[in-house]
Amino acid sequence: MIPIAKPLFGEEEQQAAARVIASGWVTQGPEVAAFEKEFAEYCGAKYAVAVSSCTTALHLALRAVGVGPGDEVITVSHSFIATANSIRYCRATPVFIDIDPGTFNMRPDLVEPAIRRRTKAVLCVHQMGMPCDLAAILDVARRRGVPVVEDAACAIGSEIQWDGRWERIGRPRGAVACFSFHPRKVITTGDGGMLTTDNAEHDSKFRLWRQHAMSVPDTARHKADQVIFESYTELGFNYRMTDIQAAVGRVQLGRLPGILERRRQLAKRYLELLADIPGLGLPVEPPWARSNWQSFCVRLPRGCDQRMVMQRMLDAGIATRRGVMCAHREPAFNRGPWLFSDRAGPQQGSASSCVALREGERAQDHCVLLPLFPQMRDDEQNMVTATLHAAIGT
Ligand SMILES: *Cc1c(COP(=O)(O)O)cnc(C)c1O
Repeated sequence: MIPIAKPLFGEEEQQAAARVIASGWVTQGPEVAAFEKEFAEYCGAKYAVAVSSCTTALHLALRAVGVGPGDEVITVSHSFIATANSIRYCRATPVFIDIDPGTFNMRPDLVEPAIRRRTKAVLCVHQMGMPCDLAAILDVARRRGVPVVEDAACAIGSEIQWDGRWERIGRPRGAVACFSFHPRKVITTGDGGMLTTDNAEHDSKFRLWRQHAMSVPDTARHKADQVIFESYTELGFNYRMTDIQAAVGRVQLGRLPGILERRRQLAKRYLELLADIPGLGLPVEPPWARSNWQSFCVRLPRGCDQRMVMQRMLDAGIATRRGVMCAHREPAFNRGPWLFSDRAGPQQGSASSCVALREGERAQDHCVLLPLFPQMRDDEQNMVTATLHAAIGT
């Protein structure tokens, strides 16, 4: 069986976790602090704050930029449901705009028509590790005074070119970027997330909120030679990452350059091996972007049945997934609250199908994600492409 993805672990992760357990300090301790420092350095951000997941990171990021009840946040429906859910956690309303069918990312030209009085943020997504057109999105958002939060769940190690220089996602261009360490992403801590920002106020808010808004962190009380009473200054959360996770994350971060190199090799091979399937749509990497290939997504030829192709692959021992979901089609969004926006501006969404979000819906219905993980051998990849050829009927 060839899985869709597979985390890359070695002895070092086991030792790192064991070391933390032996130390007796298992949460909000030295490993979390060290992971944050190393992650900030890797991305080129001033601050990095570790949390329990990317979903909780998104919640804190939106809260920090001032999203509250009744506000609107512009985002894409074509994303993992956590993107839209994080907006609802703030009791705000997602305003969905459509994607570009080539990159599967937010269309920057649809941002401006969607902005109105209650718009408090743009939540853009670097979908499947492919950088979205951040420069164009920031251009509109800055001009209209709307903060940009980046859902970089899948995008650790992905890069964008700015003025001829390559920069990693997470180096703050928008207000905050949010990363995931779920096993389906490029590196993993089991579960986990990270926020990066250059804003000192955001950084201290994230640290406060992730730990119940407790005025004095455990570490400070532990070290103090005088009795300290803490207080709880506002509504906080338990969004902590443990030191066991952080220690694993540090080892994974060390593996990242090798992981990225192999993922990029495999993506290049896929592009070569699949080039001769008539009508098959291959992922597009804009000249200013470098993907980490968190997922490799192909668009099936017209008239080709998605479920049938996936079943044929599965019968041959190859796991695939359908294209990224659309939040607005899920029962959780059936009775809103959500809006969609095209060139005419925001309108109430209700039906489970939405013409204005048609490229997202098409991508969900006609795309297939292929296996890609750093341990994948060339012969396994050859089998995937040969089986896809056969399954499509070429
Ligand atoms: C995986 C993912 C998330 C959620 O990440 P978790 O760490 O599982 O909370 C959010 N947004 C996108 C685009 C994702 O792919």
